[in-house]
Amino acid sequence: MEKLKAAAWFLITAGVIMFIMYFDTMWPYAAGMILMGAALHIAVSLKTKKSLPLLCRAGYHRYEIAGYDEEVRSMRIYECTRCGKKHKAFLGGGGA
Ligand SMILES: [Zn+2]
Repeated sequence: MEKLKAAAWFLITAGVIMFIMYFDTMWPYAAGMILMGAALHIAVSLKTKKSLPLLCRAGYHRYEIAGYDEEVRSMRIYECTRCGKKHKAFLGGGGA
């Protein structure tokens, strides 16, 4: 995914440079490259967004206890049931 994003930015950057430097002869190609880069960038962003649920992107994860930390026994590991993000937290008070 990161490679595609880099390719998209490369197309846009190269297109802009070409547009400025060789406007007279190359502007249709330059415009095409910028448009292609923009379209690719949008496609990548949409796909990345889809892979992460809306609530998770907003920071509202649905954590469930996935286990205990191996080194620190009083540390619990929580895992989000939607996106799989892990989160560690110490057990609360109350002698649990
Ligand atoms: Zn999540």
